Amino acid sequence: MVAFDPASSEVRSPAGEALSPCRNWTDHHICNWLVPVGDPTPYCAGCRLNATVPNLSAPGTLLLWKRLETAKRRMLYGVMGLNLGLPIESNELKFHFLQDQRTNPWVVEPHVLTGYSAGEITINIAEADDVQRESSRLEFFENYRTLLGHFRHESGHFFWPRVVNTDEALSEFRQFFGDERADYPGALAAYHASGPPPDWQASFVSAYASAHTHEDWAESWAHYLHITDSIETAAANGMVWSPESDEWLKQWMDLSVALNEMNRSMGMADAYPFVLLQPVQEKLRFIHRRVEASRQNI
Ligand SMILES: [Zn+2]
Ligand SMILES: [Zn+2]
Repeated sequence: MVAFDPASSEVRSPAGEALSPCRNWTDHHICNWLVPVGDPTPYCAGCRLNATVPNLSAPGTLLLWKRLETAKRRMLYGVMGLNLGLPIESNELKFHFLQDQRTNPWVVEPHVLTGYSAGEITINIAEADDVQRESSRLEFFENYRTLLGHFRHESGHFFWPRVVNTDEALSEFRQFFGDERADYPGALAAYHASGPPPDWQASFVSAYASAHTHEDWAESWAHYLHITDSIETAAANGMVWSPESDEWLKQWMDLSVALNEMNRSMGMADAYPFVLLQPVQEKLRFIHRRVEASRQNI
């Protein structure tokens, strides 16, 4: 077998190296990351962050969990890997993959909300079911709803205090995103009652970003991760000059137009159904500056 070594960001064979497959490979075949031999936990850098995993007794649950882990590893690779180089200590972040009674009448929780609270990311595993997720996407009038998008959004809440971590950064943040101290429950209730302002596209990357400053940050952060990952992939395939270029945002806007045209050629929905107007571009550039200031020297 070959598998991914998160420590070196390389795909390698564990045979002959001081590496072994993650326990979630040996037990369930749902993880392809490696663990150093002698590590105190048999789980890889991604799986050791799991606090609650799905009960696999219900048919089909293993496949849903596999999809969750694939999206989670992609998000983690983007933030921890060479692109952003932001460290995550295994005691700082935890994941809960939960089910509620809407998809499994035998569980206790009537309603599990996907979200973030104090270092814990909760994902309703129904989001890994294509039919359920697509029906939520239509219900909420969204152009884009993916598992990877959920992980990237929630990681934004985790990283906010870690990258907006000086007084100067916080005051610059408020210039672009507004005041995060505004009443959060009230803002969310108003958003769910009345929807976004009609001109939300002038200032926000998505309708939901208009709900509250913290949600604007998390949505913009998710887009920053979509963009940096996509540019890295494009560069690896010889499609853009360099992922290190200062022109990264311009490169992305050109590339995303081409991607959308390609998808239309195949009768598919747009790969990137978003418009990045000037205020949104400034938010993304602010995130880029904070990541550059916070990244670990590697
Ligand atoms: Zn693993
Ligand atoms: Zn959020």
